[in-house]
Amino acid sequence: MKEVIIATKNAGKAKEFEHIFSQYQIAVKSLLDFEAIDDIVEDGQTFEENALIKARSIAKQFNQVVIADDSGLEVDALDGRPGVYSARYAGESRDDQANIHKVLHELEGVPEEKRTARFVCALALVTPEGQECVVRGTCEGQILTQCIGNEGFGYDPIFYLPELEKTMAQIPKSKKNVLSHRADAFMKLKEVLMTFM
Ligand code: IMP
Repeated sequence: MKEVIIATKNAGKAKEFEHIFSQYQIAVKSLLDFEAIDDIVEDGQTFEENALIKARSIAKQFNQVVIADDSGLEVDALDGRPGVYSARYAGESRDDQANIHKVLHELEGVPEEKRTARFVCALALVTPEGQECVVRGTCEGQILTQCIGNEGFGYDPIFYLPELEKTMAQIPKSKKNVLSHRADAFMKLKEVLMTFM
């Protein structure tokens, strides 16, 4: 089986990538499979910059095609926040509940029709020869006023998908992995990836 390294230490994301890539007979290793890889400073201003920073750094350490993702939530009524700060929105502890609480607090009083938001995922591919490609996937939805559902991770319980009348935390993994921002980005990267495998 072909194999690719995903430059993430986030177990939730690693699992989703494993599932998405397995449909194309590609095995995925994440940074959780390797010992003591230092945290990479993600100081880019955009999801794309951060994804490239991570992919370049890991590609230097492994002689293999590396894919990195940077993802997050953009809320229109908050001028796109939490954006690239999604993981640490409420502080360095990267606490999902605290992050959700902060977003809900900031959206207090904002009516339903103005609670539009999207999940964004930038995927960067870097080869050992230094070739690079970066794409962006999105998934549109709305922010609820409370959590519903126990699936997924991060902001999933407050992210409502109007067409399904469910939150991202109420749908099974198999469904999320077809309609998510990560799946959208993967579909955009797939052809380029196949040329390197
Ligand atoms: P990253 O690891 O720097 O890319 O941070 C991504 C952060 O964005 C996560 O910690 C979550 O808070 C949020 N996020 C990204 N993708 C998702 C998702 O699919 N569901 C819920 N939250 C997500």
